[in-house]
Amino acid sequence: MTMPDRLGFFGDYGGRYVPETLVAALDELEAAFRKIRGDRAFSAQLRLHLRDFAGRPTPLYLASNISHSWGAKIYLKREDLTHTGAHKINNTVGQALLTRRLGKRRVIAETGAGQHGVATAAACSLLGLRCRIYMGAVDVQRQRPNVLRMHMLGAEVVEVKTGSATLKDACNEAIRDWVTNVDTTHYIIGSTIGPHPYPLLVRHFQSIIGREANGQIRKVEGRLPDAVFACVGGGSNALGIFHGFLGANGTRLFGVESAGHGLKSGLHAATLAKGTPGVLHGSLSYLLQSRDGQITPTETLAAGLDYPGVGPEHSYLKDSKQVTYTTVTDHQAVAAFRELSRREGIIPALESSYALAAAREYARRKGHGKLILVNLSGRGDKDLDTLREYEEHHH
Ligand SMILES: *Cc1c(COP(=O)(O)O)cnc(C)c1O
Repeated sequence: MTMPDRLGFFGDYGGRYVPETLVAALDELEAAFRKIRGDRAFSAQLRLHLRDFAGRPTPLYLASNISHSWGAKIYLKREDLTHTGAHKINNTVGQALLTRRLGKRRVIAETGAGQHGVATAAACSLLGLRCRIYMGAVDVQRQRPNVLRMHMLGAEVVEVKTGSATLKDACNEAIRDWVTNVDTTHYIIGSTIGPHPYPLLVRHFQSIIGREANGQIRKVEGRLPDAVFACVGGGSNALGIFHGFLGANGTRLFGVESAGHGLKSGLHAATLAKGTPGVLHGSLSYLLQSRDGQITPTETLAAGLDYPGVGPEHSYLKDSKQVTYTTVTDHQAVAAFRELSRREGIIPALESSYALAAAREYARRKGHGKLILVNLSGRGDKDLDTLREYEEHHH
């Protein structure tokens, strides 16, 4: 396991770039995290909720139809089968349980596409926590079904109208709330980003994916995979599965970013491929920014990958070459989305389709007889409107 130093740095990346008012809360969170990691009662309670509420363990599925045509054995880790439809529930249930440990009864979160908002709202209902979700007004319009889900789950959704009225404005409002109410409130961050200890905390709760997958593939194949693929937005589903295989001899790890319309077009969300180090949302990591440090807008069909930063541990894994980072265009991802749906009877999340498309490319080029594992981070029911609009524009 790669561990950050005392100040929360993975190599050169990470740390805590936050206002002084939040340092005590981050220290408290770090101390609580250290306690629960070795705590049997906490682990037992978490295991039960993950099993009976979230639906773990998720299956490891041999996708035999695409395996046949791609020329390699393709296994899918089925995070799409979890409650609320994506890996995000692993983290929100863990952090909601931790909130109670902290003696707090109120949770805030921010959400762009609404998936993290729904997973947070569900975990808060389960554990009897008050829940407020900040969401940009533009995103509220774009993601109606998820707003209705959050309401149904008892969460308060605050529509943020400042700035561009999207995710970054929602983040600012969430931080403002946290600074004001830090004594009573825990802020559930949805990916392996933010100030220390969040990248470590979220990775901890997501690493169940890799632990399960490691055991499952050894059981059916008697060995570890040759390659593991996962999409990278903030990076939590990727770190979750990678941590089951990091350091294993003979297993190559691939993180896949969205090249949007193509890397050369400038319209993409490929932070590790095209970014430079800088500070965003409390930590230092690769960022898409202009020379004078302005964040540049991202463009991708997958809402969950639409983020100009990336978790600091990924920046470290890139520089130390423990993981290979590649990109896939929207067009390639859509083709993989359609292929999995038609050939396997599984509609993947658009986000997961970038990982699938990269795995397909790898299988065709040098995968003959190889064992390939793809993290299917979520299900794609949420993406059908997006797909229809995309195809109307491209045919
Ligand atoms: C949110 C989301 C992602 C991207 O987030 P990571 O933290 O990079 O995992 C990927 N897939 C799905 C299905 C998502 O909902």
